Amino acid sequence: MDYAATLLSKLPGASRRSHGLSHLLETLESYLPKDQIETIVQAYEFGAAAHDGQTRMTGEPYITHPIAVAQELAEMHLDAQAIAAAILHDVVEDTDASLSQIEEKFGEETSALVDGVSKLDQIQFRSRAEAQAESFRKMMLAMIEDIRVILVKLADRLHNMQTLSAMPPEKIRRIARETLDIYAPIANRLGINRFKVELEDLGFRHLYPMRYRVLEKALKRSKGSQRQIVKRILEEFAAALKDDGIEAEIVGREKHLYSIYKKMAEKKRLLSDVVDVYGFRIIVDDVNSCYQALGIVHGLYKPMPGRFKDYVAIPRINGYQSLHTTLFGPKGLPLEVQIRTRTMDRVAESGVASHWQYKADDKVDATPQRRAREWLSGLAELQEAGSSEEFLESVKVDLFPDKIYVFTPKGEIMPLPKGSTTVDFAYAVHTDIGNRTVAAKVDRGLVPLRTPLANGETVEVITSRGAKPNPNWLTFVRTAKARTAIRQYMKNLRSSESIDLGKRLLDRSLKDLDSSLRKIGKVRMNAALEEVGLNDTSELFEQVGLGERLAPLTARFLLGVSDSNDDETAHASLTIAGTEGMVVSYAKCCYPIPGDDVMGYLSSGRGVVIHRNGCGNLSNFRKQPEKWIAVTWEKDVDREFFSQITIDTLNKPGVLAEVAATIGDCGSNIEQVEVLGRHEDCSMLSFLLQVRDRKHLAEIMRNVRKMPNVIRVSRDST
Ligand code: MN
Repeated sequence: MDYAATLLSKLPGASRRSHGLSHLLETLESYLPKDQIETIVQAYEFGAAAHDGQTRMTGEPYITHPIAVAQELAEMHLDAQAIAAAILHDVVEDTDASLSQIEEKFGEETSALVDGVSKLDQIQFRSRAEAQAESFRKMMLAMIEDIRVILVKLADRLHNMQTLSAMPPEKIRRIARETLDIYAPIANRLGINRFKVELEDLGFRHLYPMRYRVLEKALKRSKGSQRQIVKRILEEFAAALKDDGIEAEIVGREKHLYSIYKKMAEKKRLLSDVVDVYGFRIIVDDVNSCYQALGIVHGLYKPMPGRFKDYVAIPRINGYQSLHTTLFGPKGLPLEVQIRTRTMDRVAESGVASHWQYKADDKVDATPQRRAREWLSGLAELQEAGSSEEFLESVKVDLFPDKIYVFTPKGEIMPLPKGSTTVDFAYAVHTDIGNRTVAAKVDRGLVPLRTPLANGETVEVITSRGAKPNPNWLTFVRTAKARTAIRQYMKNLRSSESIDLGKRLLDRSLKDLDSSLRKIGKVRMNAALEEVGLNDTSELFEQVGLGERLAPLTARFLLGVSDSNDDETAHASLTIAGTEGMVVSYAKCCYPIPGDDVMGYLSSGRGVVIHRNGCGNLSNFRKQPEKWIAVTWEKDVDREFFSQITIDTLNKPGVLAEVAATIGDCGSNIEQVEVLGRHEDCSMLSFLLQVRDRKHLAEIMRNVRKMPNVIRVSRDST
């Protein structure tokens, strides 16, 4: 204490008004070495200067708040970085001081903690459905990389709750509700009982002031009348334990109001049933003494059958250990007794925080993540008896999440796998939204669709009625839902294109036979469909379009004409506009372009593949004439096609660049260049170009041919 006083006296005048600092220093002095306390004092000076002039709603100087937060954590004996971060936790958000200043003065670890707390502050709880609160808790836990961040945040919330009365009523209700929905359950999940109990009681008090007051009064009354009995029993216990040589600390247990309220609400119990129960806690040195003490109290008062629980041998799933028993006390009043060791008591109060308690022989190499893992594996060991792993799983998932949580523009929380992009988000909202996505905004700024999302971001998808999914999305989406939906869309698209093409092919073949689909009529069509085992005409058209069923044969079948008729091939030809989509493709052996004489090959499952008439592959024509169809180009085909040309050039420096420039000047893109051969003074280059039609290609070839270093230009044909 002397040391604290000395430090205080050394502080400059302005900050000497201690604002709780002296109490904090006393607490720190009980467990931290002097050099670390000195750093914390520096953090105080920095924080006090930064917050200078700011006040709390209570009228007190702002710095009282961070000091109170640090005090909470100091009482749990947290390490110096956590205490410094607690003192500085509002500095970045609320003052001119920057994170880099903190890093410079207090090191990376402390600044990372302050940063973590500031980031948590930025996400706002917006709506209150039960499931939403659960997601929000998970999102908070998913956002933290260091458990100490949540410890600072919980202590921060605790002090804000303690000083909540200064706020306007509307705000009080919102914050109290948020505390009960979000913060108390997080404290509970992390096993920090002391935070949980106080957060719940304060939340209860501010959300339901009337109910709180009624309960509080009733409890006070019963406590008054109980005082004598409690005192007597405490003395009896103490004497009996002492007689058997067991060192023990015995306390009468305070009931916590919110748990009484919940018991009454959930189990529909009367106030007197819940309140008139006497609670005692016996804290001993070791595990053996726990069982000895149990024997002793069972000797004093008869235990209630079925109420004994051995959480020492089989701990609760959040690591809680204790013996529980209920006795028939004087006048038959129930006495609830908990017996545990000092260590168990500390774990019961601080949970995960006990792993960050400062120890003098602490090895500093443990990363925050590793410590959290240690805590978890510690829990796992306690669970070896095979009791429920549910808690463990849920904590593990939250602390090492494979999920991220983002907001919709309406403030709903959407969980997504880590690495998910805006497109995954769009499909998670609705398949139709995904299919019509054209752009996305993250936190109100436009981003590329492939942008991976991060925790707490607000994502908005911009759709357009005519938009379609891009097959390219398949290269970056993470979720099965998006992947399946995109694939399904492509498949449907292909299917509708095949139906369209099949119908045209069949109608054309029917016309060759002086008939048409219309002339066939429903009756004949249905009979034919039944005969081949198909459900409807679209299935038939699709099969024809995909080349699985040949149009001329199908036409004859529909007309009931025998197959052995003269094999006069079709005369009417199929016109190609280049807009048929995936069921019409252009052969890569001969690269046909509009203006070329072409034939179509019905490739099973792939639709029609267009070849140039001169293509070597046309020799198949004679073998399978029924698979080839006559094709002509639509008059105005408005798209680009690939075409391949070979250019022989002199081996002059820069000649390739010159050729490329000439081609570019003609308005063509070069897709690919390949050096086919290189001799002493000439090279043979192959270009894959994008052209509109034969005229366009001819113009390119003419211009290239005119170049001084070009010897020969020719269009490839196989
Ligand atoms: Mn704060």
